[in-house]
Amino acid sequence: MRSFIPPHRTLMGPGPSDISPQVLQALSRPTIGHLDPLFIRMMDELKLLLKYAFQTENEFTIALSAPGSAGMEACIVNLIEVGEKVIVCRNGVFGERMRQNVERCGGIAIVVDDEWGSPVSAHKLQNAVEEHPDAVAVAFVHAETSTGALSDAEALSTIARSKDMLVIVDAVTSLGGVPLKVDEWKLDAVYSGSQKCLSCTPGLSPLTFSSKAIAKIESRQYPVQSWFLDQSLVLGYWSGEGKRAYHHTAPVNSLYALHESLLLLKEEGLELAWKRHADAHQQLKEGLTQLGIDFVVDEKYRLPQLNAVYVPTGIDEALVRQRLLNEYNLEIGAGLGELAGKAWRIGLMGYGARKENIALCLQALKEVIN
Ligand SMILES: *Cc1c(COP(=O)(O)O)cnc(C)c1O
Repeated sequence: MRSFIPPHRTLMGPGPSDISPQVLQALSRPTIGHLDPLFIRMMDELKLLLKYAFQTENEFTIALSAPGSAGMEACIVNLIEVGEKVIVCRNGVFGERMRQNVERCGGIAIVVDDEWGSPVSAHKLQNAVEEHPDAVAVAFVHAETSTGALSDAEALSTIARSKDMLVIVDAVTSLGGVPLKVDEWKLDAVYSGSQKCLSCTPGLSPLTFSSKAIAKIESRQYPVQSWFLDQSLVLGYWSGEGKRAYHHTAPVNSLYALHESLLLLKEEGLELAWKRHADAHQQLKEGLTQLGIDFVVDEKYRLPQLNAVYVPTGIDEALVRQRLLNEYNLEIGAGLGELAGKAWRIGLMGYGARKENIALCLQALKEVIN
């Protein structure tokens, strides 16, 4: 056996996304102790950078040492107790996972279903909160990566708050790619992932809780059943020099990488990053249209960073993906769930939302499907 040397792929699937050389460099810097004062100072900066990315002043804004799925679980397991009702909006794979999390915590999920490829319907949510005013929270996915649809998080939050329900939001694919304003939209518990529009290595989940969410955790009747994800224990871990208590060993080098990727985002500026994603999407769309390839989602609700498109009739979708990978070192995503075998998902996330990537993808697709 020898060292594993991966090829240089261009990653244009639903994540992980292409990582910039600066972030990879940050990852390979010397490991220091996770209780070293210099590391703690870096974590304090990381919190500030995360607050910027989330557009929040929430004191509890951290990176969970686990992937986006753990961020989802952390929100549900901390905020929901046995017997509590949660309205879960489901318009794709990730909404369904939220429902499973609620039920595994002993919660009662009230599901509001929308078609795959459609955004969450504000009208249906309005009916659900009226029918179940005793629900404690509303949970939804801002950017549904399984279908490429963007929901109106601000409108959904307004409806939830009209009945004093907590707002739990999956922002795994939206953070850094499209506007996400945690404080302005009054979202209570928001989680994301490092490997989508932040273009960092996989395995971390940025997470932020409002004071209302923290109050809910503090008033729990029973301790959170997951020790690792119990955020009341993690609070001390992220509370800066002198106050830092050991909870678990931080993934030191991964946090260097996240710090670097967030610094790049801050240097570019959020607005410009959102615009770069929108422009890249426009450019990809024009090229795909010329190839006769149609989008799954209506133009108004399309995610720029995740383009779900129908596989043209008569084309073997898996064979195309295999050829792109083997002949062009290019990865695009397959359809998930209801869209398996029928769609491709082309990601334009973070560092990957670039002209070179779009040109490569369009050229390769053109050669392979003709
Ligand atoms: C990718 C993704 C997740 C899961 O994140 P992992 O890092 O793969 O665990 C959750 N929700 C959405 C919307 C995602 O796109």
